[in-house]
Amino acid sequence: MTPDMNSLNRDNIVDYLASIFRDRGSEEYLGEPVTIGQHMLQGATIAERNGQPEEIIVGALLHDIGHFTSAFGTFTMEDTEDRHHEDAGAEILDRFFPAVIADCCRYHVAAKRYLCATRPEYFARLSAASVHSLNLQGGPMQPDEVAAFEENPHLRQIIAVRYLDEAGKDPELSTPGFGHFAPMVQRMVDRHAEMLG
Ligand code: FE
Repeated sequence: MTPDMNSLNRDNIVDYLASIFRDRGSEEYLGEPVTIGQHMLQGATIAERNGQPEEIIVGALLHDIGHFTSAFGTFTMEDTEDRHHEDAGAEILDRFFPAVIADCCRYHVAAKRYLCATRPEYFARLSAASVHSLNLQGGPMQPDEVAAFEENPHLRQIIAVRYLDEAGKDPELSTPGFGHFAPMVQRMVDRHAEMLG
């Protein structure tokens, strides 16, 4: 399936996301004992079991969707290869989801750098692969970056999703499939569409 970005709308975006989990979810998550699909489903499952709000559950479910950016019809293959996955994901989430959900994706890498700078106990949660990518991503934030990051109105949700990102790397945790979350994802899409009027 080579989807056309322009053909996506409120009524087919959830099916489209389902097709990504179905067709590409089994791809390796470099250095982790779970696939990317399992990783995102685990974050969402843990959030749901903990009684977190739907925006957090859906934020966790979709935070790494940008790893599949080549399916989103970005400009060129070269662009796709070089893109930061958080920006690629946020680009599509911006169109169909409330800003809080797009921000959970856009800032999930920044949140790691933020938490490493501000919560000493957080670093210990990181997987080896995540420590490695932290260095490539610029290491812990500097104080001025921390101050700027704390201005984000969705800081609390961004951090919640970041903790779910760390938690969702468990080879023993089985989860429901995307279909379980699909109605919730649709509710978020509808909430956004209704807000836009
Ligand atoms: Fe992740």
